[in-house]
Amino acid sequence: MILVLFGPPGSGKGTQSEMLLQSGNFVHISTGDLLRAEVASGSEIGLKVKEIMSQGGFPSDDLIMTLVQGQLDTHKGKQIIFDGFPRTLNQVLAFDALLGVQRENVSIVINLQVDLDQLVDRVSGRFSCKGCGAVYHDRNKRPLQDGVCDRCQGTEFIRRADDQPEVLKNRVRTYLDQTQAVCDFYRQKDLVVDLDASKDPVSVNNDLKISLAQAGFKI
Ligand SMILES: [Zn+2]
Repeated sequence: MILVLFGPPGSGKGTQSEMLLQSGNFVHISTGDLLRAEVASGSEIGLKVKEIMSQGGFPSDDLIMTLVQGQLDTHKGKQIIFDGFPRTLNQVLAFDALLGVQRENVSIVINLQVDLDQLVDRVSGRFSCKGCGAVYHDRNKRPLQDGVCDRCQGTEFIRRADDQPEVLKNRVRTYLDQTQAVCDFYRQKDLVVDLDASKDPVSVNNDLKISLAQAGFKI
């Protein structure tokens, strides 16, 4: 059975995947991880991916489909979480065709919804210690002594450009634009379940598990 997990950056998609994986009943497939693993392995595909990405390009849908097909063969019959795939209408159509051949189908699409302002509020204001990586937040997790890391007493901190409100908003909007067609495709098939991802991770996970159980997954 196949679960497609949708959610913009900051929606807690990674956390939710990890929570599901703890039961040992799921396999997690992220195309980002697959691409990184191919590059690290130095395989023929890996070398190709490395070259494309070093030139600032993205791997073609064909290449991604080859990797996905390999994973479907490897994990046949298991409960698979697809994370970050399919991302384009091209991919969704190719995926549908591939699953048809294998007599498989997508069982459910979970759409983790976040309120953009709330997301910005949560993520912006984050900073981390340059020395040890400890993470702080302007409003709800300041160091005990301002400007000094609790863990290593370091005094240098980093703010990621990704965590700046405008950068984050743009990333979320790009994601929503990109995935709109994919979401619509699955919505027409009545496979999409929208979940409020602005709740705490445990509540979101409970909602998620209820939806998955209703769709016939073993949790
Ligand atoms: Zn530190």
